[in-house]
Amino acid sequence: MALAADILENIRGFSKAMYSTWVFYRPARALFDAGEGVATALGNFVFAVEQAFLSHGHYDHVGGVAGFVLARAAAMGEKTKPLEIHYPEGDGLVEMARDYARRIGRNVQYPLAWKAIGAGAHIRVTGTDAPWRVRSFRTSHVRGMLTLGYALEETRRRLRPELQGLPEDEIKKRARSGGRDAVTEEYRRTLLAYTGDAMPVDPADVRGAVVLMHDATFLDGKDRETKTHATVEEALDVAKAAEVETLLLYHVSTRYRRRDIEAGIRDLARKRGLAAPLHLLHLGKLAPLPDGMAGDADSTRGPPPTGSGGAGDAPRQAPGTAATRREEPSPPVAPPKPAC
Ligand SMILES: [Zn+2]
Repeated sequence: MALAADILENIRGFSKAMYSTWVFYRPARALFDAGEGVATALGNFVFAVEQAFLSHGHYDHVGGVAGFVLARAAAMGEKTKPLEIHYPEGDGLVEMARDYARRIGRNVQYPLAWKAIGAGAHIRVTGTDAPWRVRSFRTSHVRGMLTLGYALEETRRRLRPELQGLPEDEIKKRARSGGRDAVTEEYRRTLLAYTGDAMPVDPADVRGAVVLMHDATFLDGKDRETKTHATVEEALDVAKAAEVETLLLYHVSTRYRRRDIEAGIRDLARKRGLAAPLHLLHLGKLAPLPDGMAGDADSTRGPPPTGSGGAGDAPRQAPGTAATRREEPSPPVAPPKPAC
């Protein structure tokens, strides 16, 4: 569980359904989606991002991408660092955002690569020496539109199962004669999975994730009019079926008040029998959902850790994320219904 806590501690993000969603995972120098306000919130951390992975082209997920690209060219920082932006192939909305960014970004000097990908792509993570890659997987959001989720995977080695229980001397002997592959095998585990906007994903795509971030737009399935977003209950069931270690829900509709969201999720988790710890990213606040015994739902997150390289003189707290943000009132009328 220490690893899950470490991953959660390194996530910065914002999610307000239909307005903006983005998630920055600093150890991988990766940005998942780029909703409006991402560059403003990250400040000089824009230079800490080397790869972006867009789930789909709806405005609330790409509305900030042009600003992000330009901020990386204009703000104070290392303006020569390359940037890759991966997106679902054939997504005309992302292509429009890309073309707009190109048109207004003629001062972009750094190598910038827009890469259309399909489901099942494996992309090496360039921002770390760790053996990490990002795997894309298909999600169900809008009919006829390829939308992608992403799984950050780590490659590890383990003792071959058939050698379990053998004396250490015997294993060493086999390694000396047959080499590393004779005694160990490679396997991958998902550190962080991100679904973008989605109906419940296939548990096989996120199996065993240390942290699963799943769309959880609706507390009550009766509020859903079109099958484009998951309910909390569905997200809980995916987490249970996939045996994830920790579930981080996000993209919860702002029609609900925060206290109702937190209480509702806890109740549903009890009913569905999910034992995994729950967290919520709502607006800019990422916090655990206590089960009544541990944690503090109102606790706020500390600043991003400072490490070597990358962010340089970046501020310790990305403005607009979490710590100082106040809960927003519920809108007085039902929110509009653009595609998102
Ligand atoms: Zn969408």
